[in-house]
Amino acid sequence: TPVIGVLALQGDVREHLIALAAADAVARPVRRPEELAEVDGLIIPGGESTTISKLAHLFGLMEPLRARVHAGMPVYGTCAGMIMLADKILDPRSGQETIGGIDMIVRRNAFGRQNESFEAAVAVQGVEGAPVEGVFIRAPWVESVGASTEVLAEHEGHIVAVRQGNALATSFHPELTGDHRLHGLFVDMVRGKDAPGSL
Ligand code: GLN
Repeated sequence: TPVIGVLALQGDVREHLIALAAADAVARPVRRPEELAEVDGLIIPGGESTTISKLAHLFGLMEPLRARVHAGMPVYGTCAGMIMLADKILDPRSGQETIGGIDMIVRRNAFGRQNESFEAAVAVQGVEGAPVEGVFIRAPWVESVGASTEVLAEHEGHIVAVRQGNALATSFHPELTGDHRLHGLFVDMVRGKDAPGSL
């Protein structure tokens, strides 16, 4: 059984721990470099990406996170977590840094104020059956991707789910829906059952 961490600096950590357990992984919060070293994969939750970035520095996690993601540890970022995995942010706050790992440019708060929060059915490549219910909370979208980044889903012409190798990211929050298929896909990535390019 794979041991999967949830970066527990800020954001909706608990919901991801529950979803991972439901998807047959052993789930653990990760706050320290020693805890990061013990997991087979990592989820970066939604929350506030500037805060997560600052806390990652304070907790001495930014460089260990970059090193493990660079070394190929499977990683899945939702919403703020997607922003953390972007190689580039279009509109970063001053001092805001990312872990990187996915060749893409993200736009923060892209869906705008009027629609700060909404739900929409999203068909995600690699997730079988009905579309997933996408919960978008001041969500980013992906402005552009590099050649080796796969687009897994779009909403109204905007990219909202991507994968590059062992790194997966969604603009929306599957941990809030009770539908654990995306967590299941990620657990399969950690198990090595779902090799890049096999989607
Ligand atoms: N808007 C937030 C950010 O920029 C993300 C919101 C979320 O994770 N639900 O980090």
